[in-house]
Amino acid sequence: MIMANGINGHIDDLDLWDYVRGGRDYGERIIIATHLHLCKECELNASLFEDACGELLENSEEVPMSKHSIDIALARTEIKTKTMPLPQLQNEIYGHSLPDNLKGIKTKPRHFLGPNVWIAPIVDNGIPAPNQAYFLWVKAGMQMLPHSHTNNEITLILEGGFKDGENSYHAGDIIYEDGHTIHAPEVLGDEDCLCLVYQDGPILPKTFLGKLLKPFARI
Ligand SMILES: [Zn+2]
Repeated sequence: MIMANGINGHIDDLDLWDYVRGGRDYGERIIIATHLHLCKECELNASLFEDACGELLENSEEVPMSKHSIDIALARTEIKTKTMPLPQLQNEIYGHSLPDNLKGIKTKPRHFLGPNVWIAPIVDNGIPAPNQAYFLWVKAGMQMLPHSHTNNEITLILEGGFKDGENSYHAGDIIYEDGHTIHAPEVLGDEDCLCLVYQDGPILPKTFLGKLLKPFARI
């Protein structure tokens, strides 16, 4: 069950601004949309950004725009922001119920990276390679292999939580990683952890075992 109270990790303003204007690819947009679904604070910011976006268009004097073209531009922003075309497929993923906005999301079959970790890639739907989005499930108490990232990664926790160094993260939290991070997150307590992950580059394993696993991990 998703307990989204007390969220500490939120969407960056720049990401939210781009999202509101209809930017970013499908994988990043579904993570942001899901966090907005769970987080009142970011939902409020998104509506403020939507208002600001509308005012910018209305006050733009550089490019003359008729009232009609402003209405069209705003309508397009509205369509891109509010609708998330998801194929009707599943209301849960391998026994884990999904937030309402993700119900019907289409994934490839999961594959296990050992007995305690699985990944179910989201069907690309226009996500440009090598960017990818996937559900990641890790059994309670498991520690991930040390690894870093070639580029940026956004994780949204849907169930459970994990500890990363001094910081602990819980359902609803957004966590950003980049190429400077080397870490080995550990899943908290008795609850398995389900996350939605978006990354714009592959993971780089930092251990010999990790390197051995990479061809099997397909991440
Ligand atoms: Zn938030």
